[in-house]
Amino acid sequence: MVNKQKIKFTTEVVRGLCPECEQNTVLVSFVPDFFRCTLCGNDLKQHINGKISYLPITVSSDKPPLL
Ligand SMILES: [Zn+2]
Repeated sequence: MVNKQKIKFTTEVVRGLCPECEQNTVLVSFVPDFFRCTLCGNDLKQHINGKISYLPITVSSDKPPLL
């Protein structure tokens, strides 16, 4: 017997202030705690400490840009 873990993909849409483009925009969440700004396309991580804020995810890009 194998217990298969079900992974739910729920799309959550919230309004928030994007720290990247500094606009009041719509943030779309594909996975919990991670949101994507629909305006500038940056990925943000949701931080909850008393208040909800969104911090940009810093991704170290070791890969060269696609040509
Ligand atoms: Zn943005």
